[in-house]
Amino acid sequence: MDLFAVPDLPEIREGDDLAALIRDRVDLRPDDVVCVASTVVSKAEGRAFDLAEFPASPRAREIAAHLSDISGDEKDPRFAQAVLEESTELLMDAPFLLTETRFGHIGVNAGIDRSNVPDDDLLLLPKRPSESAERIRAELPADRVIVTDTCGRPFRHGQRGVAIGWAGMSPARDWRGEADRDGRELGVTVENVVDELAAAANLVAGEGDGGNPVVVVRDFEWGDHAESDAHFRDVEGDFVRQALRGWSFDA
Ligand code: GDP
Ligand code: MN
Ligand code: MN
Repeated sequence: MDLFAVPDLPEIREGDDLAALIRDRVDLRPDDVVCVASTVVSKAEGRAFDLAEFPASPRAREIAAHLSDISGDEKDPRFAQAVLEESTELLMDAPFLLTETRFGHIGVNAGIDRSNVPDDDLLLLPKRPSESAERIRAELPADRVIVTDTCGRPFRHGQRGVAIGWAGMSPARDWRGEADRDGRELGVTVENVVDELAAAANLVAGEGDGGNPVVVVRDFEWGDHAESDAHFRDVEGDFVRQALRGWSFDA
């Protein structure tokens, strides 16, 4: 398997045709997986906003005031408002905002970015990243597209790429029923392939001013494995999330 960045992409602006920009720069093959950083999907879809567009509700002001107290830095209540508007559930309101976005992804600040946004204050995640992936895929000779974001994780320091949307492929390979090297049957292993590919692509894309938001994965083979739709957990089966609901930050 090889990964390479699509060269010479410009600064992306609202209305840009990402698929055409990609097509013009690489000869894609049908079995390529094209990984696109959510940042540029959001820019193309006009998801950049100014803070002034999020007048703060009393709840947002309360949240920001609490966060300001804890951190000692002034937190803008309009930012908290933007996070609330993007979210269906607030899982942690301190010492940072952890929410479920409208499309099922759980992340800090609803994935709202303040870096790599030249003309505005905020860049929201795409509204429905799998639909974005499908729109891009429909205009490419490649059959599979993943929309990625850089995301922190619990239990470990540091961030890595995850898949927030995908098209043309199942998110996971289901190994259950296959055998390990001793012939013992695998009982629980469902391998989330889109996150694994997103992490590898994110490694090539980098985080700063490198200008490499699109990475092609070439010669990745699914192999002879069953497919699984498993990606975002449902609340009922998510015990960590349930535990968070009963927890509160004690500064
Ligand atoms: P995220 O991981 O989706 O939040 O995106 P990042 O802000 O980390 O950016 C990922 C990569 O895309 C980095 O190499 C950035 O330099 C690059 N990047 C971000 N925006 C643009 C853009 O508008 N044009 C180009 N060419 N590169 C960009
Ligand atoms: Mn991001
Ligand atoms: Mn990133």
